[in-house]
Amino acid sequence: MIKQLVPHEFCLKCQGCCRFKQADSVWSPCLLDEEIQALLDKKGIPIASLSIDRRIQPIANPNGADFICPFLDSLDNRCRIYNMRPFECQLYPFLINLRNDKVLLTVDLNCPYVSEKINSQEAKDYISYLSVYLNSQEQLEMFKDNPQIIQAYEEVREVAELRLPHEIK
Ligand code: SF4
Ligand code: SF4
Repeated sequence: MIKQLVPHEFCLKCQGCCRFKQADSVWSPCLLDEEIQALLDKKGIPIASLSIDRRIQPIANPNGADFICPFLDSLDNRCRIYNMRPFECQLYPFLINLRNDKVLLTVDLNCPYVSEKINSQEAKDYISYLSVYLNSQEQLEMFKDNPQIIQAYEEVREVAELRLPHEIK
């Protein structure tokens, strides 16, 4: 599990994550192959919960006009698979981003917590931690095996450059 910058209690009071404007939103979490298998095996989720491009397939929000992750309990704002939530969910508000043939660590400043803290020492230390973690041999292997996870998000801020998966020895 990736260490978190945003306190869990802050997220529980925020409605910024796990909700999407469209059913085919690019912000819906993209899954690693092993995560798809674990969800199918351990949670017995319907295959309809996954899109053909290996994302979680959002469903219509019963309490609103938007779409929500099928694993979100919209009554208490909790993730029903929190202890096995996907890599992208653990990483957010940071994202892996492909830009100009570089793999970047970027941040989405639409997250209110990180928007306020981005220049703090706490955030700088966390970005250093993430850079070391994501540049580790184990994570580079993961990126190599799961190229779907390296996407091109727009309107996110670069905070660090990562090694390319083909740099694996
Ligand atoms: S937008 Fe930020 S503060 Fe809000 S739920 Fe997501 S990670 Fe937490
Ligand atoms: S898996 Fe959990 S954390 Fe990830 S989008 Fe769904 S409800 Fe949110």
